[in-house]
Amino acid sequence: MTNVYLIGAGPGDPDLLTLKALRLLKTADVILYDSLVDSRILALAGRRARRVDVGKRCGRHATPQAAICDLLVQEALAGQTVVRLKGGDPMIFGRATEEIDALNAHGIGFEIVPGITAATAAAAALNLSLTQRGTARSLHFLTGHGAEGGLPAHDWVALTKSGGTLVIYMGSQTLPGLAAHFIEAGMSPDMPAIAVENASLPTQRSISATIATLPRQVEQAACTGPTLILIGTALHNPATADGSIHAVSERV
Ligand code: SAH
Repeated sequence: MTNVYLIGAGPGDPDLLTLKALRLLKTADVILYDSLVDSRILALAGRRARRVDVGKRCGRHATPQAAICDLLVQEALAGQTVVRLKGGDPMIFGRATEEIDALNAHGIGFEIVPGITAATAAAAALNLSLTQRGTARSLHFLTGHGAEGGLPAHDWVALTKSGGTLVIYMGSQTLPGLAAHFIEAGMSPDMPAIAVENASLPTQRSISATIATLPRQVEQAACTGPTLILIGTALHNPATADGSIHAVSERV
């Protein structure tokens, strides 16, 4: 019997929740949620549901991953209907594997409910397709955050050569290093690069620049919300055709 649901809460806007997520939220006995989950989404849960904040932000783990797994297992074995609510999609940079392994180890049935990931929310916010016939033939989701808090060990040359659109999660802190590696790997300093903060939320902001200029722009904008970095020729916007820097804009 399935009584655990790993659910994607989407990028923030409650309207982007799936109908399935909404239905399951209403039946949950307990909801274990991450800090990226919007309070308006939690408010959609049934009144009797216990809400447990197991949030983590920027690598600072409010609750260590092992403790989250233990809690998940404990609640499930106690016969509770458990919703594990994660920002975006649970299978994209969501540490889902650890939780799936823990549930499997205890023979607990579970179901994954996908959510809208930050990348597609950002593309919608920008009115820009992440793929483009003949120009951007592939799409790469990367982490900007290495194990020790530094840069991850990506194959910078291969990524640059791919010519695809690069979408970097958790990359706003390491952006100067990321940009330097891509340029060193042969990426044109004029390559369009955009940062989108709080995609889908009323506080959404975007910064359109180039790979060479974006790090400084992001630093000046002092983004405090979750921020996605997008790089690639598909993001070429006629408004920024000369590579000039556009001021931070509210709601693109
Ligand atoms: N599972 C999530 C990603 C978790 S990793 C998903 O599928 O979207 C956390 C990173 O996601 C943040 O550092 C940020 O880069 C990105 N992110 C999540 N929500 C975002 C949002 N609303 N706007 C911009 N970036 C977001």
